[in-house]
Amino acid sequence: MRSAEPGSTGGNLPMFEKRHVSFTSGSPDDTLAIARELGAALLPGDVVGLTGDLGAGKTLFCKGVGEALGIPPDRIVSPTFTIVTEHAGPVPLTHIDVYRLSGAREADEIGMRELLSGDGVCLVEWAEKIAERLPTDCIQVTFAISGGDRREIAIAAPDLPRFDAFRARTQRFQLH
Ligand code: ADP
Ligand code: MG
Repeated sequence: MRSAEPGSTGGNLPMFEKRHVSFTSGSPDDTLAIARELGAALLPGDVVGLTGDLGAGKTLFCKGVGEALGIPPDRIVSPTFTIVTEHAGPVPLTHIDVYRLSGAREADEIGMRELLSGDGVCLVEWAEKIAERLPTDCIQVTFAISGGDRREIAIAAPDLPRFDAFRARTQRFQLH
């Protein structure tokens, strides 16, 4: 592991230097393609936090990640009243949408700490609402709607070889 940026950590906490990459998606298919490639790089225990306005593409992105993990995309849907959906699969997938929660305290009441430290992959929509509960090595995916079907997607992932492979396979969507 490379050394962290000055001031980015302290004490004996593990350091997770993250690499930031920006993507431009021109269509729902582009977003699905990026998401599938990220999904292929994930391992059990990973947490992915998704941030962005309503309609930005968070749930669509979750479908792509799920597909890479062997979960049919039609099973991953926008929850109406469901906050947590668990999908069995080769790698279990927990899909959480914290939109309706007031914050980390309320999240604790539904067992967020346990959900986030589960055996599978965990996807959290509106992750910024529970920022203080996310693990330090969380993969952050941030969406901005830039008009029509265009989305700017910024992904910060730990500086690990498996994410290098993801970055290499998604070059065509990256800003240069
Ligand atoms: P969120 O979960 O962020 O509220 P959804 O994934 O449910 O958003 O919805 C995104 C909507 O935007 C879908 O209807 C999708 O078809 C549309 N869309 C249009 N262009 C894109 C794009 N480039 N990436 C993702 N979604 C897009
Ligand atoms: Mg959604």
